[in-house]
Amino acid sequence: MVALTSSDPLAFGDDIGPEKIVYLRTHSVGLRAIVVIDNTAAGPAIGGTRMAPDVSAVECFRLARAMTLKNATCGLRHGGAKSVIFGEPGMPAEQKEQLIRAFATAIAPLHDYIPGPDMGTDETAMGYVHDEIGRAVGLPAEIGGIPLDQIGATGFGVAIAAEVAAPFAGLSLDGARIVLQGFGAVGEHTARFLERRGARLVGVADISGAIANPEGLDIEALARLKRAGKSVVEYPYGRVLPNEALVAVPCDIWIPAARPDALRADNVERLNCRLVVQGANVPVTPEAERYMFERGIISVPDFIANAGGVITAAVEYDGGVKATAFAAIEEKVGGNTRLTLERARDMKVSPLDAAMTLATDRLQKIMQLRRWR
Ligand code: NAD
Repeated sequence: MVALTSSDPLAFGDDIGPEKIVYLRTHSVGLRAIVVIDNTAAGPAIGGTRMAPDVSAVECFRLARAMTLKNATCGLRHGGAKSVIFGEPGMPAEQKEQLIRAFATAIAPLHDYIPGPDMGTDETAMGYVHDEIGRAVGLPAEIGGIPLDQIGATGFGVAIAAEVAAPFAGLSLDGARIVLQGFGAVGEHTARFLERRGARLVGVADISGAIANPEGLDIEALARLKRAGKSVVEYPYGRVLPNEALVAVPCDIWIPAARPDALRADNVERLNCRLVVQGANVPVTPEAERYMFERGIISVPDFIANAGGVITAAVEYDGGVKATAFAAIEEKVGGNTRLTLERARDMKVSPLDAAMTLATDRLQKIMQLRRWR
């Protein structure tokens, strides 16, 4: 594979992509959007539509590339893409619907792009897109969708990744102490699925702060607080901590499920765990990955551990149901986690390097099948 050689990846690209970068504008409704279709060798590209005020084309490309790697690693018949609609996700519902519908119309000619929900968009938004152009995943259940956040598809995969990875770190999930950064769609379900496997949540953070209790936190009580629009720090039985302190809470498995760059050079040394399972996207900087590798902390990369959502989207696109999605997540996320950690161990490389090789090898094979190289 050819590595990106410029600080501006859009100026060069590499052997993989991007195939298309499309800037969209519909003046009448104030739509400004970018679509990056990175690679469609495996099939039409699936990738989320993010609504945010400030995502650059380069960032959109990086997110699209992450989808290419994730989809190829999971053996999905889909390439990778990403799109961004510029705007405040909390705008009035009517205005948001108008913008999403205009976006759908604008991407109608991009037949090799299938949008899905992402930060700032949801299944209702995908319902509008589907209504306009008949092409979207992550749809409302009423029109054949598998509501992936509601069923906890990504959290289920993260729990499976943790279960498979635990023995590589000398752990068993039974009695394992878990710390979670983020208690949203991914974090809450990860906590539940891990508890069912015998683990105990001892620390959790949301945007307002963190709470820890070595005896364990009641996940359902935390979920009730969240449903009531409150923060986890209002949970009465634990020690309230500032967000930055969560990294140092003693545990067996530390799971980022919130923001990018959660583990960085300036805080990774405070980690007090044996295993990190990446639920969020890009939650670990390269320096922090290197530190963990040198210290023997096992780290399961994001595109291996958090693929449950896109696997579910692909199952939905094929007309499958929830049970099919869960079986596929268990097989694909579990299998890829095992393969990654076995290769990392045998070849004495970091799990990230092992996962990148796995992904690019599979992508190369897919591209050869299409006579693209
Ligand atoms: P969400 O918005 O439902 O939840 C995010 C959680 O993180 C919330 O509890 C929020 O309060 C918390 N948070 C935000 N900033 C924080 C901070 N600085 N410190 C501590 N907590 C903070 O989002 P989500 O869908 O759960 O996604 C979480 C991450 O997982 C994102 O990186 C997302 O891209 C990634 N991801 C999500 C899916 C999915 O299926 N939803 C799939 C793959 C990857």
